Formats: sequence, C-alpha cells, structure tokens
Amino acid sequence: MRTSLHGAGCGDSCCLRVQNLSVKIGNDQILSNINLHVHCGEMVALIGPNGAGKSTFLKAVLGQQEHDGIIVFSSPGQRGHKPKIGYVPQTPTFDPGDPVSVADLFVCCQSKRPAFLGCSKAMRKSILECLHRVHGEDLIDKRIGTLSGGELQRVLLALALEPIPNILILDEPLSGVDVEGQTDLMDMLDEIRDTYDLSILMTTHNFSLLDRYADQVVLIDHGIAASGTPAEVLSGEAFSRVFHRGGAKE
Ligand code: ADP
Ligand code: MG
Repeated sequence: MRTSLHGAGCGDSCCLRVQNLSVKIGNDQILSNINLHVHCGEMVALIGPNGAGKSTFLKAVLGQQEHDGIIVFSSPGQRGHKPKIGYVPQTPTFDPGDPVSVADLFVCCQSKRPAFLGCSKAMRKSILECLHRVHGEDLIDKRIGTLSGGELQRVLLALALEPIPNILILDEPLSGVDVEGQTDLMDMLDEIRDTYDLSILMTTHNFSLLDRYADQVVLIDHGIAASGTPAEVLSGEAFSRVFHRGGAKE
C-alpha cells in the first residue's frame, strides 16, 4: 500500500472540491449528490460498472457537461489563479493506414500551423521535450495508427502535460494496454505526479493495481457508493453489492 506525502494536510486548499454534484440528461438522473475532495499530490481512482456515470462525472469536472452543484479548483500558492487541467480522453482509435505521425498530432493540437506544412525545427525541439516527459522521444516520427496501446497513452499523456497541469484527469488510460504495459503506465503516472507535484484523477477497471498506486478510491454507481483507501473500498460491502461478487480482482 502506498503512503501519501500530501493527502491529509491540504485543508481548504485541496486541488479539487466537488459538492452535491448532480447530472440529469433528459429524464435520466445520471449522477446524484456527489461529494469528493482530491487533495494536492493525490492519485484518486474512480471505479464502477459500465454506465455508472464515471465519464459523465469527469466531463462535468472538465466543464463539458451541464450539472448542478459546486466544483472548486485551487492550488497552494495560486489562490485566485485558475488551476490548469490536463485531460487524457478515453483512448481514441486510429486507422493503422492513417499517415498522421505523432509529430503531426502535436502540430495539430499545439500550433495554428497546418500539419501538412510539417513542423519547424523549433516546434520539433519542443515536441521532443514534451515526449521526453513520458520517455517517448523515439515515438516522434511513428504513425499514430501503428502505436501500441501503451505508446498511444504515453503520447496522449505528453499532450496533456503541456503546459504542466495542476490536476491530470484520465478516462480509462489502462484499457487497450497489455498487462505489463499497465504497470509501466501506472509507474509513469506515479513518477509524473511526484516530479510535477500534480494531482491525478482517473477512472479504471483494473482493481489489482489500486492498492499500489491509488491514495483514494471512489466507487461510483450513479452516486458515491463507497470511498476510502483501496483496501477499504475493495473489501467493502458496497463493492460486492455493486459488482455482485465478493473478490477484488478483475
Ligand atoms: P461510465 O463512464 O461509468 O461507463 P458514462 O458516464 O459514460 O458511464 O454513462 C453513464 C450513463 O449516462 C449511461 O447510461 C449513458 O448511457 C448515459 N449518458 C452519458 N452521456 C449521455 C448523453 N450525452 N445522452 C444521454 N445519455 C448519456
Ligand atoms: Mg466511461
């Protein structure tokens, strides 16, 4: 089990505070009464069955989903400044025949220059610096459609880390990544969290990695069914009820 360096002492300055958040889409109440604090430097994992509302919650936090309730961001020493949020969406799929390279993707996302003009020397240098953060400099000229699941996640992560955010939000970064790659990716997220002192909020279905990497686990089933340390949530009654079973492995 990991020990959090930061979690407990945040007081009022926690990185993300959500109060009484509810989302209704049409006549469907997707989320009700969500209360959640993500403290500075913490890794928080959202778990729950498919359709439970995890992605909807992340979209509300990102300001992309209408909701009721209060969402407050803050970071120590930056009161009054809007904290930066980095977002890695649920893995998009790319066609293996697609000619777009990793460098092209960076050019499209980070500059106004059309990708077909290629990238300038200065731009290439700054892309390499971004990829260096995820140990991915060697990926710069690879075609996006040929990347493995783990490589693609690293590229998306490098995009989300420019500029370095205060909070990094990832929607199922481990899906589509092989088992060994999942541990590598979690190690990388852990390293990034420590290096840049940022908070991480992610959804996942891989429960076996939670004890090692997550400070806090929140079980969502249209509301918060349970929250606490990985051990508390995974061995709790709510977990068995929501997933209709007793064990914690998936
Ligand atoms: P999860 O990420 O936990 O699998 P989602 O947040 O994607 O779940 O979806 C939660 C529920 O909200 C699902 O029943 C889904 O069909 C519904 N939902 C999500 N977005 C929309 C939308 N734009 N319109 C209608 N229903 C939606
Ligand atoms: Mg989802």
